[in-house]
Amino acid sequence: MPQSKTSPIWHPFTQHALEGKMSKVVRGDGAYLHTADGRRIIDAISSWWVVTHGHCHPAIVRAIQEQAGKLDQVIFAGYTHDPAEEVAERILRLAPRGLDYVFFSDSGSASVEVAIKMALGYWHHNRKERTRIVVMQHSYHGDTIGAMSVGARGVFNATYRPLLFDVDTIPFPAKGRERETLNALASVCRTQRPAAFIVEPLILGAGGMLMYPSWVLREMKRICEAAEVLFIADEIMTGWGRTGSLFACEQANVTPDIVCYSKGITGGAVPLAVTLCRSEIFEAHYSNDRTRTFFHSSSYTANPMACAAAKANLELWEDPETRRRLTSVIGMQEKALEAFRNDARFENVRRTGTVTALDLKVSDAGYLAGVGPKLHSFFKDRNILLRPLGNTIYVMPPYCVTTADIDEIYSGIREAADAFGDSGSGA
Ligand SMILES: *Cc1c(COP(=O)(O)O)cnc(C)c1O
Repeated sequence: MPQSKTSPIWHPFTQHALEGKMSKVVRGDGAYLHTADGRRIIDAISSWWVVTHGHCHPAIVRAIQEQAGKLDQVIFAGYTHDPAEEVAERILRLAPRGLDYVFFSDSGSASVEVAIKMALGYWHHNRKERTRIVVMQHSYHGDTIGAMSVGARGVFNATYRPLLFDVDTIPFPAKGRERETLNALASVCRTQRPAAFIVEPLILGAGGMLMYPSWVLREMKRICEAAEVLFIADEIMTGWGRTGSLFACEQANVTPDIVCYSKGITGGAVPLAVTLCRSEIFEAHYSNDRTRTFFHSSSYTANPMACAAAKANLELWEDPETRRRLTSVIGMQEKALEAFRNDARFENVRRTGTVTALDLKVSDAGYLAGVGPKLHSFFKDRNILLRPLGNTIYVMPPYCVTTADIDEIYSGIREAADAFGDSGSGA
């Protein structure tokens, strides 16, 4: 039986039997969260990878406020509105060339479901029997049944395994073993005739902030193209500057057939997602035959207030100052990481764009590493919001972060290693 029930709320990814008291947050401001008990917390993981320019960015707040008084919500079948039209037009201008249509939804997981359904619809309506999906080892694409099915099997979804559909998995392109990944992809494309390959470009987030170079992404796209397998990029985390470019695919000069964006699409203020596709995919559904309709909708598809926030975010990305901020964060992150490259208590010290990650050496590595929750509360006590993936500590700050904030974050990480590292004094 629960010990002392203080709230009826069931929190996400939270083991209530082990979790301490929840921190109540009353205000967000740039890189900081302010709690009811008067603490100021540095948001070193952008509130789960969503906040890009900082909490309560004035331009985004203003856009939401103005839209809320004009049109709050409207059915999106048979009706449209300016905020959605403007977001679609602007996003196609910023996304890789060759994408033509924008489908709205309201979470990353939903945008992945949409991507999978678009791919299946494309082959079905072209009267080809292609239904299998190829995925990458350690990948994460969300928590709905379809999104879990195309993600790595593991502790997150072991309970639901009987409901998950079967996929083909290629190995993660670990350093020096990239050819194995590419050969496996080429082989599965040949033997299984899959409908699509779905991948997180350059960084696998929830799988442990695993990073791989852009040439591998480029090669994977080339292999899919040659085998006529649809290439789905899940840029839900990697988009909006995280990898150093607006979208990760830019660095490989790749245009996916289908791409998912969410999280930072509104600057992290309100939920929204989009799935972009090439015209061929839209056209496979375009018909006088009503059975070819793309049967997908969420009640809040293209919510006008969310679209207004996204539009304000897209305007920020057209401002050169945003790109300058990004460059400066990359510099700060690299400089901070330098000191850890020769620290024997860590391994796999790595960075892609604005994201850094390092693995604390422990005897029981992995997501359920015993050190995970200890690190989490250690940082919480120091007013730093870091939520390590097991023994993997990563820093993914909003772009308004200062050098003083970065110093504080990495000092915290150094102290954590002193306290919990296997070769540290406290081990
Ligand atoms: C967060 C995430 C998702 C799921 O997005 P939600 O909005 O949480 O449903 C999917 N893919 C990747 C790569 C993510 O990081």
